[in-house]
Amino acid sequence: MSDWLPRLNQNTCTGCGDCITACPTNALALVEGKAVLVFPDLCTYCAICETICPVDAIELPYIVVRYDQKQESIRGTIKYEEPKV
Ligand code: SF4
Ligand code: SF4
Repeated sequence: MSDWLPRLNQNTCTGCGDCITACPTNALALVEGKAVLVFPDLCTYCAICETICPVDAIELPYIVVRYDQKQESIRGTIKYEEPKV
């Protein structure tokens, strides 16, 4: 599993399924009552799951930066949170 992928805390997850319903690419599923990233290749790192989880059981450890090569400027960030150490 790649380091940059969403990290799902199995101890905190209540199995509510909100992240699974919200994931636009169906990358998540419930396995034995806990959310699991079952199809990591489908994950677009959109951070919707992290935002929607009511118990903060999902963390995206990296910041995604969009860079405009023509204008040589950063157009905006998708995620602003610093990674937790
Ligand atoms: S939204 Fe959070 S608590 Fe609910 S299934 Fe997903 S990871 Fe678990
Ligand atoms: S970051 Fe987006 S695409 Fe990846 S698992 Fe979460 S909701 Fe799905």
